[in-house]
Amino acid sequence: MIRKVVAGNWKMNLNYNEALSLFNSVNTISAKDVEIIVAPASIYLAEFSKCSGRVKLAAQNVSNFKSGAYTGEISAQMLNSLNVEYCIVGHSERRSYYNETDQLINQKLHLLLENNISPIFCCGETLQDREKGLHNTIIEQQLKLGLQDLTKAQLLNCIIAYEPVWAIGTGLTATAEQAQQMHSFIRDVISQLYDLETASSLSILYGGSCKPSNSAELFAKKDVNGGLIGGAALKKETFNEIIDSF
Ligand code: PEP
Repeated sequence: MIRKVVAGNWKMNLNYNEALSLFNSVNTISAKDVEIIVAPASIYLAEFSKCSGRVKLAAQNVSNFKSGAYTGEISAQMLNSLNVEYCIVGHSERRSYYNETDQLINQKLHLLLENNISPIFCCGETLQDREKGLHNTIIEQQLKLGLQDLTKAQLLNCIIAYEPVWAIGTGLTATAEQAQQMHSFIRDVISQLYDLETASSLSILYGGSCKPSNSAELFAKKDVNGGLIGGAALKKETFNEIIDSF
């Protein structure tokens, strides 16, 4: 059985009181068999890791270095010491605003896995890529380079998130058919890199303007196992409705 997952990426939003209040209310959501993950700003992780509830914590970023003189950075080991279970890696905002390359993203994946943190590995094409018909090529390359040298057991500890860049925060959503086509393509690539069994066990989330009005249609698709949610994760009601739409 593939795990169903809904993860909220809060990005650089919410002050401490707002974040704590949202975290506490999301922590009481009673959904049956859906794993709920929340990625608040990293300065809140220590505090939130002390709250018990059903929500699992994710970091939004991690250093590509192990430890040492890297001012402002947070290591995988530090995240592990706070019982953070997940970390988002390869998000398009980090790829574009911070010039994160596939190689750097791969270093982060290795460090996270060595520290028992499951990466939520994001991949996605730009609008330009899609218009040129390059979406499959781009995704295949991001998967091959980003996941390089991960063992099968390590890959099975990852979650993949397909996030077309043109749909993130824009209000444009991939149609359920487009999402299914890309998720199925991702499974094919993983199957070639590893094997069918591994590919069939991975949770692949859709991200990009996923909201209560489109989540049910997206989640109904065979290869869409949940969502990585940005804007709609900032309100308990919309996040809850998305979780309930499974
Ligand atoms: C995201 O940034 O991961 C995301 C999916 O954002 P939004 O839902 O706001 O498009």
